[in-house]
Amino acid sequence: MFFLKKRLDLFNTACLLFVGVLFSISVCAVENQKIDEIFILAEEIKSTDFNRFSELVTFLSEQSDQLSPAQVEELEYLQSYRLVYSGKRDESFVRLRRLAENSTSENLKFKSYGLMINSLVLSRKYSEVFQYFDDFHSLLGKITDEGTRSYGFVIIALVFNSINQFDLGLYYAEKLIETTKVDRYRCIGMQFKVEALHRAKRYQEFYNFYEEAINNCIAAKQPVYVGIIRSFRIEQLVEQSPQQALEALNAYFNEVEATSYKILITLYRALYSSIYLKLGQTDLALSYGLAARKNLDVSEINYAVLRLYSALHEAAKTSGDYQQALNFHEILVTKQKAFEDEKTSGLLAYNIAKANIEVKNQRIALLDKDNELLSLQKDLFEQEAKQNRLLILILAFVLAIATIFAYKGMTGRKRFKKIAEYDQLTGISNRYHFNNQAKIALDYCENNAKPVAVMLFDLDFFKTINDTHGHAAGDWALQHVVKTCRNFMRNNDVFGRIGGEEFAVVLPGCHTDKAVLLAEICRDAIAAIDSSDSGKQFPLSASFGVAGSDTSGYQLKQLLADADHAMYQAKESGRDKVAAYADYRSVV
Ligand code: GH3
Ligand code: MG
Ligand code: MG
Repeated sequence: MFFLKKRLDLFNTACLLFVGVLFSISVCAVENQKIDEIFILAEEIKSTDFNRFSELVTFLSEQSDQLSPAQVEELEYLQSYRLVYSGKRDESFVRLRRLAENSTSENLKFKSYGLMINSLVLSRKYSEVFQYFDDFHSLLGKITDEGTRSYGFVIIALVFNSINQFDLGLYYAEKLIETTKVDRYRCIGMQFKVEALHRAKRYQEFYNFYEEAINNCIAAKQPVYVGIIRSFRIEQLVEQSPQQALEALNAYFNEVEATSYKILITLYRALYSSIYLKLGQTDLALSYGLAARKNLDVSEINYAVLRLYSALHEAAKTSGDYQQALNFHEILVTKQKAFEDEKTSGLLAYNIAKANIEVKNQRIALLDKDNELLSLQKDLFEQEAKQNRLLILILAFVLAIATIFAYKGMTGRKRFKKIAEYDQLTGISNRYHFNNQAKIALDYCENNAKPVAVMLFDLDFFKTINDTHGHAAGDWALQHVVKTCRNFMRNNDVFGRIGGEEFAVVLPGCHTDKAVLLAEICRDAIAAIDSSDSGKQFPLSASFGVAGSDTSGYQLKQLLADADHAMYQAKESGRDKVAAYADYRSVV
């Protein structure tokens, strides 16, 4: 309170026209910053200094053209608050609902729902409370402002205590006590806790906590709550020790009266009435009871009112005024029933709301499960994909290895085949391969009635080349002879090295004369090879023998023999010559 007054004084200094009362406020040009301060101040004092709060709201309403949209909403909330506490709850309700449903500020939405619920509890419309309770409760999680959160716990604890859900009331009261930094809220939390323990008849816990609650509320300068907390203890004492209860009442009644809080004063008078009844002082019981009743609204129903009518009924009965006793009894029964009905309907509404919330939660849980399932499925797919990727990787690896091996095998086989079929020095078919290829070609020619010729040649005096110029020179000569003759070969001609320096060519489709011509070309080309490229200088020549299918047939063996025969003739006739088998006698 001191803090609040100090803030107010500060503000008064800033705006002189604001000093004391607000009559001349309209001429005070209030800066925006000051307006913000007034809003904060109004919010702070709204429940502790209602008159001053009301003046601030009036002032702010007059500045409406200077307010930001957020401030306009905030003002609407404060105006609603003022309406609620002036008893104009219905009027406030439309505004609060609009704010609760439409405001862009979560805080303001929350406070509006809270005030609506608070107002409905005050009107004992418990069943309506739960129309908004879920929305309100859901918003709590989004509220970051510590004060607003505490306010939320206050409202929730109030609601649960009001419908006799004391365990829940206690739970939220304790949450409030633990978390709030506001002394007043802590005191309210303690009052709710004491009330919940008292009404749930958890007396041991009540006693253990009672002093702490009283001391806290005294320190927080909350006499109304101190009075309420004490009333619970006195209620218990009425039954256990009316004398002690009377002493307590005597000790605290002045304090309670000083609060001017009507319900509390009624409650204390009703307690006096009950105690005097217990003590056998019926007159005093009746007079206290009737005094309390004077200040009551006819429609009022609360614990104090019920206690009052109960005491009045007993007192009237004891004093022999049976008619009066009957009247009080009827009122008591009616109010008791209404009170019970309200609580029951509240409880029912709570249970329906709870069931709805549970259904909603279950749906959420189901959705969560679905999501869990989906994410599990996703994980599974991912894992499968991972495994597949791994499998593909392994397969690819295996395939690569296999390919390498296959390639190696293939190239190996190829190489082996090549080694097996081709002459390493000259690159043409070796004797074995030449034989095979030659037979295929001869078969083909025979089968297709095509002529075929075989040309055989042997290098002249090759031994001399080797001996004179070295084996390397001989190799060079072999390679260059093959290279030279290849230039004149066709694709389907079969060229092979059948001896050291002896070569044979199968020429499919060639008659002997054409083969002789080719032999001449080759002989000429060999003789033209310039050996100086080998680093040596030596003459190169070869002797050629030719045999054709027309004279020798299609058997390789025969053709080779006849060609060899002709070649021998060419050697004989001086080398560097071409001889044809049919005509071996006539060497060209
Ligand atoms: P002719 O004119 O009568 O054929 O005389 P020639 O010297 O060629 O006769 P011969 O057939 O006796 O000699 C063949 C020589 O060819 C013997 C051998 O050393 C040589 N020779 C065989 N194969 C190779 C080879 O791959 N490289 C080399 N450098 N010489 C080879
Ligand atoms: Mg030779
Ligand atoms: Mg030879």
